[in-house]
Amino acid sequence: MSALEIHQFPFVWDDNYGVLIHSAETGETTCIDCGDAKAYQQALDDKGWNLTHIFITHHHADHTTGVLELKEKNNATVIGPDYLGANPIKGIDQRMKDGDTFQFAGKEIQVIYTPGHTMDLICYYIPEDAVIFVGDTLFAMGCGKHFEGTPQMIWESLKKIHALPPETLIYCSHEYTQENAEFAIQIDPNNEALKARMVEIDQKRSADLPTVPFTLATELATNPFLRANDSGIRQQLGMEDAPEVDVFTEIRIKRG
Ligand code: ZN
Ligand code: FE
Repeated sequence: MSALEIHQFPFVWDDNYGVLIHSAETGETTCIDCGDAKAYQQALDDKGWNLTHIFITHHHADHTTGVLELKEKNNATVIGPDYLGANPIKGIDQRMKDGDTFQFAGKEIQVIYTPGHTMDLICYYIPEDAVIFVGDTLFAMGCGKHFEGTPQMIWESLKKIHALPPETLIYCSHEYTQENAEFAIQIDPNNEALKARMVEIDQKRSADLPTVPFTLATELATNPFLRANDSGIRQQLGMEDAPEVDVFTEIRIKRG
């Protein structure tokens, strides 16, 4: 099978990105989350794609407000987490747990449970295409805030992302990159890769271009939340001998 076509588009909520995933071979199309049915339908119409599926990452309103409307309009099958968030998501047809796999457009989709930001957060990983959709688990140079879980839980979740092949392309749900970078450089001030990336993302943003997606390799080099074992960061925090989870927790709390 050739690689799936991915179309990312911004919509106004909280710097959210929407994503459509399309197979030219089977004609199937899915989207990641739907905070705004009109914006998603417009993107589908622009591409001339018919929506067959909706993949939900977690229950937050900016990810689910438009799900029912979009589902009904397109008669789509909704796949979502088999975990209860504070507000159980309406309209899910198939519920997925950690390690579950399913087929979409002839590809295997692997479900990776990454709780912490919310207790229902799941990622959709497509090994054949080396791409993952992480919702609010991880951002460019940042990670989701622990609204329902604990920093320790997010640390365990990020380890699952960390273990993927470095060339994996990561799609997250928000354009928070510049503010994340400003925090990252305080924690990791001598990181040359981080400094170079900051220049690059400033150029992209001033040209109104997205900084999403990005590769795991780039995050491993520049995202302080994936670098709790880095000696420079540890020195900066005065935590040279602390366990990695403690270093991570310190960074997560400092970020606010
Ligand atoms: Zn969220
Ligand atoms: Fe969000």
